[in-house]
Amino acid sequence: MCYRQVQCTRYGCGHDTPLSEHRSFLQVDCSEANCRYSSSHLADCQSCKETCRQWLRPAQMVPKQTLSTPCPHCASGAK
Ligand SMILES: [Zn+2]
Ligand SMILES: [Zn+2]
Ligand SMILES: [Zn+2]
Repeated sequence: MCYRQVQCTRYGCGHDTPLSEHRSFLQVDCSEANCRYSSSHLADCQSCKETCRQWLRPAQMVPKQTLSTPCPHCASGAK
């Protein structure tokens, strides 16, 4: 099943914050013919809803930079 990798910043507190929403994700192709989002899936697939998966796996966070400081939320003193 295909999924998206979301590039994020990982903070010292353990929280992840996605980088700018529009350009920070990469779609990972599972190459399965019975997955609606795969490039191996037929464009003219018949009865797609019965035979193929129609959803993506939850996005996976990929830290692009790691900071030792807490995230803005934690740094603001929220408990
Ligand atoms: Zn897939
Ligand atoms: Zn299909
Ligand atoms: Zn935090």
